[in-house]
Formats: sequence, C-alpha cells, structure tokens
Amino acid sequence: MAFEGLAERLQGTINKIKGKGKVNEQDVKEMMREVRFALIEADVNLKVVKTFIKKVSERAVGQDVMKSLTPGQQVIKIVKDELTNLMGGEQSPIKFATKPPTVIMMVGLQGAGKTTTTGKLANVLRKKYNRKPLLVAADVYRPAAVQQLQTLGKQLSLPVFALGTDISPVEIVRQALEKAKEEHHDVVLVDTAGRLHIDENLMQELKDIRGLKEPDEVFLVVDAMTGQDAVNVAESFNEAVGITGVILTKLDGDTRGGAALSIRSVTEKPIKFVGMGEKMDALEQFHPERMASRILGMGDVMTLIEKAQATVDEDKARELEEKFKTQSFTLDDFLDQMSQVKKLGPLDEILKMLPGANKIKGLENAKIDDKQIGHIEAIILSMTPAEKTNPEIINASRRKRIAKGSGSSVQEVNRLIKQFDDMKKMMKQMTGMAQKGKKKMKLP
Ligand code: GDP
Repeated sequence: MAFEGLAERLQGTINKIKGKGKVNEQDVKEMMREVRFALIEADVNLKVVKTFIKKVSERAVGQDVMKSLTPGQQVIKIVKDELTNLMGGEQSPIKFATKPPTVIMMVGLQGAGKTTTTGKLANVLRKKYNRKPLLVAADVYRPAAVQQLQTLGKQLSLPVFALGTDISPVEIVRQALEKAKEEHHDVVLVDTAGRLHIDENLMQELKDIRGLKEPDEVFLVVDAMTGQDAVNVAESFNEAVGITGVILTKLDGDTRGGAALSIRSVTEKPIKFVGMGEKMDALEQFHPERMASRILGMGDVMTLIEKAQATVDEDKARELEEKFKTQSFTLDDFLDQMSQVKKLGPLDEILKMLPGANKIKGLENAKIDDKQIGHIEAIILSMTPAEKTNPEIINASRRKRIAKGSGSSVQEVNRLIKQFDDMKKMMKQMTGMAQKGKKKMKLP
C-alpha cells in the first residue's frame, strides 16, 4: 500500500503523544525529530521537510496548545493541518473553458501512465461532469500509443481522433479541434508524446501544440513510485511548457509518498487526481485533507461513502435494507450483495479507509477474489428457486446435487450455506438491537 512506512512511523509517533495531559517543548522536539526521520525516509524533498517541521514546531509550542486540556490531540491536529497544507490545502477542481471546448493537454514521460490516465480522465469527465469528450491520439512516437488510446476509447465507448503516426502531432491536434467544433464535443483531451527523458524537441512540440489554442489545463502525469524524481520531472516540465496541475499515478503501489508530499510545495501546482490502479475507473480526485487523514491512520470515510454512492445501486440497497428488516433475505439477495461489494474494489483497500483499520492484523487476507465469487455464484445458480428462498430445505442429497451441478465440493456448499445462516442470524440481532434502541428513545 502507498505510504505504508510513513503512515506506520507517523502513527507510532502520534500514539506516544496522543494521551499526554501535558506537553512541553522537549516533547515536541522529540516528536518532530521522529517526524523528520519519517518524512526523509519517505523520500520527501529536504527543503519541504525543513519548512514543514519548522511550521509544526512553531505552532505546537504555542501558548494555546500547551495550555489546552488535550495538548497531545492539539499537536496531532497541527500535524494533520500542515500535512494537508503541504499537499495543497483545498481540493483543486478542473478548470473548464467558459466557451467550449475545454482543451486539456496531457503531458509526461513515457511509462508514467499518460495514455491510460487520458482514458480514465475522459471517463471521469463523462460520468461525473456530464461532458462529451473527444480523445486525441497525438503520441505518434511511442509504438502502439495511438492504438492503445483507440482500444481504451472502444472500451469506454468514447470517440478517439487519430490520423496514424506519419502526421505531425500539431497537425493532428489542429484537425481534432476542428472536428470537436463540428461534432460539439465540449472537452478535447490530447494525449501528447512522451519521451524517455526530457528533451528540447519534445518541449518544442508541446509548445507548438499549446500555440494552436491556449489549453485550459495542462496536466502532467507522473509516476508516484519514482519519488523525488517525479518532483524533478514536474519542475522541468513546468519551466519548459508550463503545467496547471499534476496527476500522480500508481498510488495503489507501494510508493513511499515522497512525490505526493513534495510536488505541490516545490512546483506550486496542485495535484488534481491520483491513479489508483490500471482499470478505467481507478482515478480519484485528490483531496489533501483526506490524504493526510489516511496517512495519519484516521481513515478516509468520505472517499468510502463517495465510492459507495457511485457504485452501489441505491434502489437495490433500499430493497436489501427492507429485506433485512423483514428477514426475507434470500440466497439470490446474498449473491446480489456480494457483487455490489465486489464493485467497490478489493476489500482490504476498502477496510483501510476506516479509522483505525491499519491496526487490524491480517487485513491482507481479507481479499475476496474473483474466483471465489465465481464459485459462490455457480453454487447459488445451481439451486432451485425453492432452495434459494428456503435454504433450510437443502438436505444432504440436495447438497450433493448442487455440488455436482456447480463443479464444487459438498464442503464448499456447506460453507456457503453456513455463511448465509450466520449472516441472517447477525441481521436478526442487529434489527433487534435497532428496534430496542428506537423503543428506548421513545421513553419519557
Ligand atoms: P504512457 O507511456 O505514459 O502513456 O504510459 P501508459 O499509459 O502506457 O502506462 C504505463 C503502465 O502503467 C501501464 O501498464 C498502465 O497500466 C500502468 N498504469 C498507469 N496508471 C496506473 C495506476 O494508477 N496504477 C497502476 N498500478 N498502474 C498504472
């Protein structure tokens, strides 16, 4: 997981100071020494570390903190505030043109994830902002980049403007802009050429594309795994072409966090999005406060709720809730629920968004893999409608038949039925508790 080492060290430091009734300058000094080590180890830029420590120390030894009833908590709040500030403070929205189309240029080095992110961003623009994007394949140098974008376009059912690789990128973009006008696309997303290293020709080409029509956004796509190198790349691109924001990719990997924590301070450009996986829906808006909260082990419930809202079908959720209450939940519903949870992403990633979840041991085993769900699905689909509604009728011979029909073992069928029974029991208890609670509230 990203930030794992940093999170662990910072949380360890925080736990030491958390409950202290009194905090003196020496305590703060010691804490800051540990925080400094943690940040340096996470590959955060040295200058950034220095300024950060200075700011936190100054605020933490202030009168208000020392005299407060919960100084430990206050210090932690300051660390969180300053971590948030370090990453830009507020979430930075996309800037759209007042007169469409909005032009977004995607720039970056080869392999950073530029083409993939172009597809993901188009998906976000359509889903979240209701836009009608046109993707432009202007990376004519990397073998197969044009084809890759076309494939992504097909997958997303979004149009891709491509003219092959023999025409200059500037000409491609010029024609794409015309086409966007004709076909009323309100956003044009240009996948420009990456290179292995920053070079003059590349920068000139990007400047030429810029010259066609001033882009509303120039997003630099950088690989978070490259740590401080990502910061250097961002500085160079910013000086040469001018960028308006950064998209950090591969934050789902085990990056130490240096890039995320340094890039904003060094370049003064906001991180707008983060890539959290290879799939087309794995792009999240970057919220500095939520990220700080995650790093400090305080969870990220807001993102979790948004994820749930975006992926879980609300009508279905309401229907399930009703079934919980009336205890008319069947194995069909069980299957439905499993596939909804699956849509949220890997279970261990979801659990990590809950406050304190980092302390749960063995979380890495909490994976529901696709194979397992496929198996459960096969078992349930091999049952008759009567069995699905009334699993208590499933006797030994029925279990054998179901196992055979679904290509699984009788033990697996048993396990599933037990899981379902346990869940029903738990629901019964929970609804019972909720009803008792309601009655209590009504008492004078
Ligand atoms: P480009 O050369 O910059 O256009 O890079 P690509 O878009 O081809 O991406 C390079 C590799 O990184 C591909 O294998 C992508 O699937 C992968 N990739 C891109 N973004 C992410 C991300 O957020 N997480 C992970 N795990 N992989 C990513």
